[in-house]
Amino acid sequence: MSIIQEKTVGAKLLAECLKEQGVTVVFGIVGIPVVEFIGFRNEQSASYAAGAWGFLTGRPGVCLTVSGPGVIHGLAGLGNAQVNCWPMVLISGSSDTTQEDMGGFQELRQVEACRQYTKYAARPGSIEQIPFVVEKAFRTATYGRPGPCYIDLPGDYIQGATSRKVSIHRQVPEAPKYQADPRDVEVAVQVLRTAKNPLIIVGKGAAYARSEKEINHLIDSTGLPFLPTPMGKGVVSDTHPLCVAAARSKALAKADAIVLLGARLNWILHFGMSPRIHKDCKIIQVDICPEEIRNNRETLPLVGDISLVVSQLAEGLKGYQYSQQSPYLKELKAKIHANTESNEKRYKDDSIPMSYHRVFSEIKQRLPEDVVIVSEGANTMDIARTVFDMYSPRLRLDAGTFATMGVGMGFSVAAQMFHTNRKVVAIVGDSAFGFSAMELETAARAKLPLVIIVVNNNGIYHGLDHGEFNKTPIESLPPTALLPETRYDMIADAVGGKGYFVRTPEELGSAVQQALNETEKLSVVNVMIKPGGKKKLEFGWMSNPEPKL
Ligand code: ADP
Ligand code: MG
Repeated sequence: MSIIQEKTVGAKLLAECLKEQGVTVVFGIVGIPVVEFIGFRNEQSASYAAGAWGFLTGRPGVCLTVSGPGVIHGLAGLGNAQVNCWPMVLISGSSDTTQEDMGGFQELRQVEACRQYTKYAARPGSIEQIPFVVEKAFRTATYGRPGPCYIDLPGDYIQGATSRKVSIHRQVPEAPKYQADPRDVEVAVQVLRTAKNPLIIVGKGAAYARSEKEINHLIDSTGLPFLPTPMGKGVVSDTHPLCVAAARSKALAKADAIVLLGARLNWILHFGMSPRIHKDCKIIQVDICPEEIRNNRETLPLVGDISLVVSQLAEGLKGYQYSQQSPYLKELKAKIHANTESNEKRYKDDSIPMSYHRVFSEIKQRLPEDVVIVSEGANTMDIARTVFDMYSPRLRLDAGTFATMGVGMGFSVAAQMFHTNRKVVAIVGDSAFGFSAMELETAARAKLPLVIIVVNNNGIYHGLDHGEFNKTPIESLPPTALLPETRYDMIADAVGGKGYFVRTPEELGSAVQQALNETEKLSVVNVMIKPGGKKKLEFGWMSNPEPKL
C-alpha cells in the first residue's frame, strides 16, 4: 500500500491508483502520462478495445473519455462488455461539481447513464475517496461474473488537490474460486455415465476462465465429443478428433445430455429450446453466476469456477469412457465428413468475382497457426467461423453475444497491443469496416502492423455491381447497397500503410502473403467478391424457437 501526500492533484492520484492496479495500457481519447496510452479517434472503438483487453488478459481493460458525448460513445463499449461478460473500467471526466445542473460544458448525468450497463458506477465522494472507488471498480469488474464498471471524475476533482495524506489500495488479488456442491456433481456424473448422446459445449466463459488445461483433460480422458461456441473456439483445438463443430446442428438436436461450460442459453444456443435442442435433453449448466442457472429452461446446476468444476467432473468420471463406436458419434462423424467435402468443393470455386469460400480458402492456406483472428460482418463472420480453425484459446474475437458491428478495429488494436509477437488479422465485411475505418490512423500511429482484409460485396448483407447500381435510380436503391468498389484500401495508403485492391485468387494470395510478411506497416486488402444482387434478406440468427412465419 503506498501513501500519497497531501496537495496531490486528483489526476495524479488516479494515475497512481491505476498503476497500483497493474494497468499498463489505457485506451481513450485524452491521455494520462503514467501508462502507455492509445489515443483513438472515437471513444466507441476505444471502449471496445478496453473490453477486448479484459477478455484477453483477465484484468479490466481501461478506457478514458471526456465528458458528455464522450461518455455516450463509451456506452457502446460498456454495453458490449456487459453482454459478453468481460471486465473493463470506463473512466470519464465530467463537468465541475459546482456547476451541477447549471448547463455546464458537456454536462450529462453520467453515473446514471452508465448505471444500467455496468456492475458498479460511481462518482467518488471526494478527491480523497478516489482510491476507494478505483479499487472497488477493479474488484467488481473481475469478481463473480465479470463485467464493466464506471468511474466518474468531475473536473474539479481532476484539477483539485488532496487535503490530506491518502493511502492507495494494493492490486486486487485474483478472484476467489469456488467449487460446485458435491451433491450436484454426483447428479451430473450419473447423468453423463448413462447418457447415450453426450455433448460438451465449450463457451467463451471457459476461454475467459482459462480452463483449457482442465477441459482438454476432461475430453481426452472421457472421449466425450465437444462443440465450441464462436469465441470458445481454440480452448480445445478445432482439429481435435472429438470436435463436432462441423456437425453442429445435428450434435445439438440429438444430444440427450449436454455439459454447458461457460455459455448461456441465449440466441447463440437457440435459447436451449426445442427443436434445436431436445426438450428432454439434460443440460448440466456450469456457470459462475447462480442467477444464470435455469434461464430459459430446466437445467442441472453446477455453480462454480469452470476450472474447478471441470476437475470435479473429471474426478467423478474416473474410469468412464464414452464409446467411440456409439451411433451418435458415428452419425456425427459421417455428417462432418459430408460437410467437409462440400466445403472443399466450394474452396475450389473459380468464378470471378470470388465467393466467400474461395476468398477464405486463399487466406486460410497462408495464415500461421498462432494467428489472432478478429472477425465481424454478417456473412463474412458466419462463414469465416466455419472455415478458420483455432488451435489455442482466446485468439478469436468477433461481434460476440451483442452482435456488435464496428468492433473490428478496436479489437484489433487491443489484440495487437497484447499479442506483440503474433500477427493480428481482421477479416471484416465492408459494411462492418465502415463503422470505425478511421481507427486505421490510430493503428498506424501506434505502429501496429495489422492486416485488415475487407471482404467487399458492395453492401450490407449484399450489394449491387457497378452496372446494376448505375442503372438504378437513387430512390430505388436497396437500403443494403453501398457504393460499389469503394477503395477502402486507399485509407491504408493515406496513413502510410499499404493498400491492396484485389479481384482474383492470385492477387488475393499475393496480397495476403505480403501483408503477413510486413512487420511495421499496417495493410488493408480490399477483396471484391460477388455482390449477391437483390436477394431477399435472410437472418438465420433471428430464428425464433417457435417460428411464426
Ligand atoms: P458464449 O458466447 O460462448 O455462448 P456466454 O458469453 O453466453 O458464452 O457465456 C459465458 C458464461 O461464462 C457467462 O454466463 C459467465 O457467467 C460464465 N463465466 C465467466 N467466467 C466464468 C468462470 N470463471 N467460471 C464459470 N463460469 C464463468
Ligand atoms: Mg458487405
